[in-house]
Amino acid sequence: MVDVHLIGITKRFGRVVAVDDLYLDVEDGEFIVLLGPSGCGKTTTLRIIAGLEKPDKGRILFGERDVTRLPPRERNISMVFQSYAVWPHMKVFDNIAFPLKIKKYPPEEIKNRVRWAAELLQIEDLLDRYPAQLSGGQRQRVAVARAIVVEPDVLLMDEPLSNLDALLRVKMRSELKKLQQRIGVTTIYVTHDQVEAMTMGDRIAVMNAGKIMQVGTPEEVYNKPANLFVAGFIGSPQMNFIDARIVETDKGYVAETETFTIRLPEKYKELLRPLRNEKVILGIRPEHIYLEPRKHTTLAAIRGRIDFVERLGSDNVLHIDTGGKIIIAKTSGNYAYKVGQEVEVYLDLDKLHVFKQDGEAVF
Ligand code: ATP
Repeated sequence: MVDVHLIGITKRFGRVVAVDDLYLDVEDGEFIVLLGPSGCGKTTTLRIIAGLEKPDKGRILFGERDVTRLPPRERNISMVFQSYAVWPHMKVFDNIAFPLKIKKYPPEEIKNRVRWAAELLQIEDLLDRYPAQLSGGQRQRVAVARAIVVEPDVLLMDEPLSNLDALLRVKMRSELKKLQQRIGVTTIYVTHDQVEAMTMGDRIAVMNAGKIMQVGTPEEVYNKPANLFVAGFIGSPQMNFIDARIVETDKGYVAETETFTIRLPEKYKELLRPLRNEKVILGIRPEHIYLEPRKHTTLAAIRGRIDFVERLGSDNVLHIDTGGKIIIAKTSGNYAYKVGQEVEVYLDLDKLHVFKQDGEAVF
């Protein structure tokens, strides 16, 4: 096991800058997720770490070892892809044993290691079958077993669960995470699915356009997004963004939007002072907008009318018209709100975010 360092990695394909001066430190034994929209450079970054792609600039360190110029086989990494990539003509045992045979392990050790990996993935009973006789989920387990059987320094996974159905994906999510915790292998995992990232990652590196926008624990990227991109990418339904202007009044700072004005808590005073008369973007998550007042919470009440209701059973997602601007609120599914109903909407100001025009978070 090893720590991994990406130092100023850049990769271009013609005019496309797929990875743009990227820095990332992954701790020994850590499970880090590269999360971002399609085309943001996640797979390219992973392939560079694997040695399948050469960076135009920058260095890759595994611990103290500079692996930038080493071919994949000399990096002691394993990779699991979205497509199961198991060999159809080989039985499960031989599929898992394959990397060990290439490395010329003695037959007895091969047997022991295959058994160890198969037990971890709970596929001991399938060792005699061909891939065609397996379900998609079982095939992916074989692929993971084959990846861990060599006890790699670094395990690289590129959307390994995307081909599975929704239920199996949820199950495999926790299984993969537990497996990684058990064997403690440094893992870099690519996905565009924020729920997967939040549930599996020790830390998440949120990427956009070849750059890392923020690296943090799931709690950090959710509670303290560093910029508008991360704020909008993490969380479902998406955070509400409302254009506003910060104005100083004799009662403190207020945020004036097109449709309502809210008084901002005293505790933000120092942060707001430099933004006097500036345009900003207010951010508030749907789950931090309430339809009933709460105690011990700093709230701003505004008037609205229910425009649309998405009933999800456990929750209702309400589209609320606040005089031309629709804001989204998530409430418990217990109460049946009706379209057209006039409501009082409470914004939880302790959970409010303010972003500058360039997207940087103020708080
Ligand atoms: P996805 O989630 O869709 O797989 P990604 O975040 O993994 O996307 P990459 O596959 O790393 O993104 O691609 C980053 C950018 O580099 C994209 O614009 C892509 O079109 C481009 N790109 C990737 N590989 C090549 C290649 N071999 N030749 C040319 N352009 C490429």
